[in-house]
Amino acid sequence: MSRILIIEDEEPILMALEDDLTLEGYDVVTAKDGIDGFERAKEEACDLVILDIMLPRMDGFEICKKLRQEGVLTPILMLTAKSQEVDTVLGLELGADDYVTKPFSPRELLARIRALLRRKFPFRQGLDRLEFEDVEIDFRKYEARKGGQLVYLTALEFELLQFLARHRGEVVSRDDILDAVWGKDEYVMPRTVDTHIAHLRKKLEGDPSEPRYIKGVRGVGYKFVG
Ligand code: CA
Repeated sequence: MSRILIIEDEEPILMALEDDLTLEGYDVVTAKDGIDGFERAKEEACDLVILDIMLPRMDGFEICKKLRQEGVLTPILMLTAKSQEVDTVLGLELGADDYVTKPFSPRELLARIRALLRRKFPFRQGLDRLEFEDVEIDFRKYEARKGGQLVYLTALEFELLQFLARHRGEVVSRDDILDAVWGKDEYVMPRTVDTHIAHLRKKLEGDPSEPRYIKGVRGVGYKFVG
């Protein structure tokens, strides 16, 4: 049974989520403030964290950043407000794996949760290491270095990069990427792929505005050349 930690201070949302997830057969743990949530995310063996942004004592961004800094790789699904698109980008940059926008439908949320749990790391076989220019990736250890320095990539970014690299030299469409990385019955906007590609470029390319390795192919998708 998968164990899900919900960190949310708004009681009605927390209770509704807890009920829905329990009914779906998940083991649910909850926290109502940021510090408690952070501690639980570190200490309890959770398979997924659902993380609100506005929280007392420590906000969701801080929690996300600190968990990743401490090497906690549990998938994080952020809850963001519709008006705050910037939150989404910041959340993903700080290491969240996906987000849903409030108000969300239980169906949408469950689809996202299932997709994140299904990804659960062990990467598909076939590619353990990747090197290009001054970048070295060890997919088995989840380690990325650029110029010898460790670079933090989210689990999703590792998987996305691995998928592109496995298809080195081929153009893959956003739909191919969504199917492979997020899962087929998924509820993700193709634009989400672009956001994550932009993050990968920023972290790994010498000049993210003129990518040499993670190339875009207009109207079609992406191609890894390296
Ligand atoms: Ca809140």
